[in-house]
Amino acid sequence: MKEVFRIAIDGPSGAGKSTIAKLVAKKLGIDYIDTGAMYRAVGYKMKREDVPFEECDELQAMLDATDIDFVSGDIILDGQIVNTLIRTSEVSQMASKCSALPMVREKLVEIQRNMGSRKSVIMDGRDIGTNVLKDAEYKFFLTASAEERAERRHKELIEKGEEITFEEVLRDIQARDHNDMTRALNPLRKADDALEVDSTGMDIDQVTEAILKEIK
Ligand code: C5P
Repeated sequence: MKEVFRIAIDGPSGAGKSTIAKLVAKKLGIDYIDTGAMYRAVGYKMKREDVPFEECDELQAMLDATDIDFVSGDIILDGQIVNTLIRTSEVSQMASKCSALPMVREKLVEIQRNMGSRKSVIMDGRDIGTNVLKDAEYKFFLTASAEERAERRHKELIEKGEEITFEEVLRDIQARDHNDMTRALNPLRKADDALEVDSTGMDIDQVTEAILKEIK
């Protein structure tokens, strides 16, 4: 295995990318970069500071004054840990909206490429294999049926105390799939050289093993 290598995991919301990527990172002793958390942090900040969800000077000024980093698995927005603040369904929608804005993508893709340039990483998102790390040594496209993804996400949100129905979660997942796949800039799609893993009916260990088998 090369000394420095990059693994890209893309796929729709709720396919289990972050759970799997974390386990693979731990197993291989490399860093995990959750790019969805970065779009969530920007969406959260835009809402908090009442910045319009459109390309404008105000947005550029906010982005210029935004610092996003990962330290020991925590996402840090301008010096503050925002792990839980960015995990609500409201912030999911804001992340999806702001991720269509070229100014936002330009800023975050630059940070992501920097993070992936120095050491071995596993990065998950929507455009990692097709855009951010086009030359990644390993690429995966993780999918599952919309119903199964909604079931997993619903369970997570209920455990966190959010009052939300399965139907609302399913609608949210379908809306985000639509936004992610139809946006003009870097839409969600499988890279030609990515291996597709459909996790419908598979448990976490089975998916992790399927991915590790390709890397070893
Ligand atoms: O993966 P997660 O659901 O946390 O991502 C939040 C949102 O960020 C997604 O709905 C998607 O619109 C956006 N995203 C993106 N490109 C990435 C990662 C996430 O557009 N590389």
